[in-house]
This record gives sequence, C-alpha cells and structure tokens, in this order.
Amino acid sequence: MSRLLLRMALPAPVYGLFDYLPPPDVEIRRLQPGQRLLVPFGRGERCGLLVELVKESEVPAHRLKAARALLDDTPLLDEAHLGFLRWAAAYYRHPEGEVLMAALPVRLRKGKALLAPRPDHVLVQDVSDEMLDRLAKRAPRQFELLSWLLEQEGGVRLEDVRQRFPSGRDALNALRRKGLVALVVGERAESEGKAMIHELEPEQQQAVDAVTARLDEYQAWLLDGVTGSGKTEVYFRIAEQVLARGRMVLLLVPEISLTPQLVRRVARRLAVTVAVMHSGLNEREREQAWQLARKGEARLVLGTRSAVLAPLPDLGLVVVDEEHDPSYKQQEGFRYSGRDLALVRARRAGCPVILGSATPSLESLKNAMEGRYGWLRLTRRAGGASPPTLQLLDVRNQRLEGGMSPVLLDALAQTLAGGRQAMVFLNRRGYAPVLSCFDCGWLSDCPRCDARQTLHRGQGRLICHHCGTERPLPRTCPACGSAELHPLGQGTEQLEQVLGRRFADFPLVRIDRDATSRKGSLDALLARVKKGGAGLLVGTQMLAKGHHFPDVTLVALVDVDSGLFSADFRSAERMAQLIVQVAGRAGRGAHAGRVLLQTRFPEHPLLQTLVSGDYAAFARQALKERQQAALPPYSSQVLVRASGRSMEVAEAFLQQAAELAGRLAGAGVQVWGPVPAPMRKRAGRYRAQLLLQTARRPDLRHLLAAFVPALQQLPDAGRVRWSVDVDPIDLY
Ligand code: ADP
Ligand code: ZN
Ligand code: ZN
Repeated sequence: MSRLLLRMALPAPVYGLFDYLPPPDVEIRRLQPGQRLLVPFGRGERCGLLVELVKESEVPAHRLKAARALLDDTPLLDEAHLGFLRWAAAYYRHPEGEVLMAALPVRLRKGKALLAPRPDHVLVQDVSDEMLDRLAKRAPRQFELLSWLLEQEGGVRLEDVRQRFPSGRDALNALRRKGLVALVVGERAESEGKAMIHELEPEQQQAVDAVTARLDEYQAWLLDGVTGSGKTEVYFRIAEQVLARGRMVLLLVPEISLTPQLVRRVARRLAVTVAVMHSGLNEREREQAWQLARKGEARLVLGTRSAVLAPLPDLGLVVVDEEHDPSYKQQEGFRYSGRDLALVRARRAGCPVILGSATPSLESLKNAMEGRYGWLRLTRRAGGASPPTLQLLDVRNQRLEGGMSPVLLDALAQTLAGGRQAMVFLNRRGYAPVLSCFDCGWLSDCPRCDARQTLHRGQGRLICHHCGTERPLPRTCPACGSAELHPLGQGTEQLEQVLGRRFADFPLVRIDRDATSRKGSLDALLARVKKGGAGLLVGTQMLAKGHHFPDVTLVALVDVDSGLFSADFRSAERMAQLIVQVAGRAGRGAHAGRVLLQTRFPEHPLLQTLVSGDYAAFARQALKERQQAALPPYSSQVLVRASGRSMEVAEAFLQQAAELAGRLAGAGVQVWGPVPAPMRKRAGRYRAQLLLQTARRPDLRHLLAAFVPALQQLPDAGRVRWSVDVDPIDLY
C-alpha cells in the first residue's frame, strides 16, 4: 500500500496509537506531525494529535477509517517535543495518547481553535508624584487602585486585580487612558537596575563560571548550597547569559513556593516576559502561557512540575529549584517526576540542567558523588549571615502546654521580649489529630479510611485529611453518650490558640492550608510581620517555603518524632530535609538563628547526626544504609497498586500480576508481594500493592514493556482500579 496513513494519539486509556486514513478533502502534503485532526471514534468523534505519517498498519485496510477534518494549519508541537513526550510515556508506561493530549491546554484538547492573545497582566507605567497627588484629590478610586498596583512592584495578574477590586473596571480603564498603566500579555517588569544586584561570593562565582563555561552541551549540575547561600542569585546569573545568547530558560519550583512575589522577582531581575504555569490558573490563562512558551514570546517559563511538559523551542537552560521536593512527583494518572524529566529534557535539548537544594535528594547526591553530575557547593550563607545552631529539647517527663515544653515557651518569650520573631512549626493542621472518649475509649475514626478524623475546632467539625469525609463535632460520645470527649495531641490550630493567649500582645500569624483559604486577612497580617518587630509565626511546612522573614531568630519544631519511626524507608530522608529546611528559616538577616527540636528520643541517631554534623553527614550515612539494603538509589523500583471493594479482590488481582511478572521477569528482577498498603482502606476502598525491584534498570524497563499492557488482560483486572508507578517516592 503506497498511501500514507495517519498514526494518531487519542485521549483514551489504551497503550498504543490509532491509525486512520487522511481526510478525503485534504492534500497529503498539508499534513504534519503535531497537528490536530477530528477522527471518528466509537460512535462519536474525537480530537487527536497526529504523531506520525506511516506506510503500513496492522489494521486490515478495509477496517481503516478516514479522519474527518484537519484542525490546524501548522503543527502545535514540533517533532522534537513529540519525541520527548513519547519517550516519557514509554518510560512511565502510561498510555501515549493520554500523555500527548495532557501536554495540550484543555481547550485545545477539546478541538477548539487557538485563542487570540489577550492581555492578562497590568503593568504600571511611569507615574510622577504629582500625578498621584492629583489622583488622590480628584479620583479616589483610581488612586486606590494605582497605589495598590504600585505596591505590587511589577506586573499583576488581571485576574488578581479583578478579585481585589470587583468593581474597579472603570477605574482601570481610566488609568489606561491616562497612560498610567498598560495591559500586557504575560508577566513582565522593567529591569530592577544594577544597584540591586549583589556582588557574588567566591563560591557563587565558581558555580556560575563552571556552568557558563559549558552552555552548549548537556550537563547536569547539582547546586548543593546551604540555606541562604544565594542559590537564586546563581540561577539568575547563569540565566542572564543564556537569555543573552537568545535561548530560553525553564525554571521549575515546588508547588507552594510559586508565589506572585517570586514571579515578579524573576521578571524584574531578568527583564523578560515570563510565562507562568501552575495549577491555580484558569483555562484561558493556562493556554495563553502555553502559547507564549510555544512561540518563544516568553523567554522564560516559570512553573511547577507540569511546566516540564511545555513546548519550548530554543531551550538553553533548565533549573529545578528545591529538587528534593516531593511535589515534583505527580501522584495520580501520569505519574511522572518533573525533576527527572527535566534532566531528560535538557539532554535532548543539549543544554545544562541545574538541580538546586540545601538538602539534595539521595538520588542526586549519589549521581554527584559518582561524577555523573557536576557538584557545585555553596557552604556559606551569602552576605555574611551565620548558620543556625540546633539544639534538642528532651520532652520526656515535662509538663507540656499545647505540646510545648517550659523551655520552649521561655525561649519564645525571650525572643519576643528582644523585639525579634519566632517560628513555631508542627506538621499537622487542625486542632488535634484525634478526638477521644475518656470513658469508653471511642476514637474519631473515619468511616471510610483506616485513619482518624481530625478535630477542627474553628469550623466545629471532624474532618478526614485523607478522603475529606466530615461531620459536625459531637457534644457527647457517639458510642456511650459520655461528655468526657477530649482532643488527643496537637495541631497548628491548637498552637495558635495556646500561643495567642500566652503572648496576646504580639502579632501572631498561622500559615497552613486551612489558614491560607482566608486569604485577605492573612495577607494583611503577613505584611505586618514582614515589616519586622516582635511577632510569632505558627504553621505547617508551608512556613518553610516561599516566604522570607528576615527577623526570625528562633525556630521551634514542636514534634520531630513522628518522622523517626515510619514504615517508609524514605521517611528519615524527608525528616532530615524538613528539619534542615525549617531550620534554614532562622537567622537569615543580621542576627544569628537558633533552632529547638522537641523530641522524646534525644539519642536517636538521625537527630544526633543532624545536631552534631549537618545534612551532608546525615546523607552519607543514609546512602550507606540504602546501599546495604539494596534500596533506591542503589536499585530501581516499580509499584503496582490496586484497590477494590474488598482486600481479597485487590490481592487476587495483584497475585495474578505477581505471577505474570514472575513469568516475564529474568532473574534480575525481584517481585515482592502482594501485601496490603500501609493505609489498608482509603475512601471506602481496600488497597494492596506489589513491588518490583532490580539493581539493573534496563531489566525492569524490558519487563515493563510486556508486563503493563498485559495487566489489562488479567482475569480480575475489571474488578479493581490499578496503577503502575515507575520510580515511586511514596510506598503507601
Ligand atoms: P537560597 O536560595 O540559597 O536559600 P537565596 O537565594 O534566597 O538563598 O539568598 C539568600 C539571601 O542572600 C537573599 O536575601 C539574597 O538577596 C542574598 N544574597 C544572595 N547572594 C548574595 C551576595 N552575593 N551578597 C549578599 N547577599 C546575597
Ligand atoms: Zn464513650
Ligand atoms: Zn477518610
């Protein structure tokens, strides 16, 4: 057969692509990979992406159907990008059609035409004091809006302006007519001016020199720099050179650190149009950012993990900030690691990739130690700030108040009396993790999970943090009717209450997922604390990221024990990273920082290593243990998860999967399980898992190619939900 056929990616949970004949009314030379076409599918019609033009098909000729219409004149994705996405689908064993379609903005997936660009940011132009005075007198609403915009220092999302000033449309238009503000596409700002740029510390300079000496080739770098060592400045210097050579920059950050402040800082410092990509955008904004990136109109793309899938025509540098952060791993559907794909992307683009962290993942450290990554170390804080000191507080046999010992409370009091700020950190939101009856022992179990419902006193509810099931707070015990219901343990809401009473004269801000939903009031409080002076910050790990509080001199971790004895072999690494990151918030300004860790296990080796040495000492030790146990990064893992209406059905499916893997696998792959998941029941479903592990990664990849498609055919496949997680980071 000499006719060309279209090999199409369609959004369907099927491994493999679909073949079609070209649309009858379209000349074959107009067809190129990366274009969308409308094709018949089942009884309906779908929008798909042309991946390849081929000569042969396994489908018999009489069964091939013709595509109905060509939707794009020019390809949406170029061949190099299609190649990257296909590689990723194959590596993670996820249906190719879903991966390729997921890389398109939602509207385009549905077959709609590309949006015409429309301004989505407001940028303040030159405004004289005189002009402001005049507005203040004659047009108070315009004055209010303009003053707020000026405070934001840079481009502001139109969406944010609308939210803040719901009826500010006329005022905005008036400011525009006067030439005081402009509406622009993408995040943009004028240059910050050289005065704000630091002279580099010697170690920073060495790092910049090392990377910029090799900008035209693939090389991975680990920027291993203590907190406050000025890693961001290093990224900026290198990015400047890459931009000056006319190439684009991809800067990835963890989910919670992508704040408007960061976006503005980047736009201002590098004086380029920035396309921002994260999950908080609406469909239109998302597509617009995607278009800016695809056309290379934004020279820098700043985003969370999914930005690694964006089209970037002349990629010249990839940066992954806080590369150890678990939010780089997508935990559902297409389970990719944004960090790992960043490396693949850079390799394919032939450009450097920088992984930055004060607490590098053991995977990256091992690669640096073995010479696969260049290892750039920043051992000192920039600008002369000194490192914080860590101290363990033994809380055995102590009278605790809201989980806090007298020594801790005294330290807080002293800090406040000295006019400084303290951060109190606890990685549990809500008031208490359990409500219990002291008469009969009833606990606030979640009816749908193998977990307890958390007490949220402010909302007056019990809420499960795993499935969201909630109920009103009972007054008497649901089991025995007793009034002796008491919270057990602490959450951030309780800390806020206890500290608020005790230190009533000082501003106190709570930062966690519940608190950030009351956004307006929080912003005002935060602004107050950031201005300086005595104050307290209470929160979960959200506190450790995104915000910069120069006046914090004391950091207290109320409970570090929960991370010490977990079933997951990565929990020690996570705990160490958390402690070091949180500690890194102390003493960033001119005053030295102090860190207090409350524990009932002061002799625990992990804590001892962190207190006497540093993260590097911990990491060396942890790597040794992983090597002895043949755990990642000394082996590769794949986790097959299944859930069903009973544990029996989940395990039966995985038993069939285990036998299949046993038949297909060579001697180099171990098959462990099935076993019930650490959380046996979640949202009403019973969960089990099967682990495949090998020291030789190619063996595993080879196995997966046959194993994963065959899972669909197993007898019990239809009775469970199952998924395959390549390089899992959570074994739950
Ligand atoms: P990191 O990301 O490594 O924790 P940051 O990049 O946030 O550190 O920098 C910490 C602080 O040090 C920032 O306030 C930054 O402006 C400042 N800084 C960075 N480089 C220098 C330098 N060379 N001299 C003085 N201050 C610097
Ligand atoms: Zn009871
Ligand atoms: Zn639940």
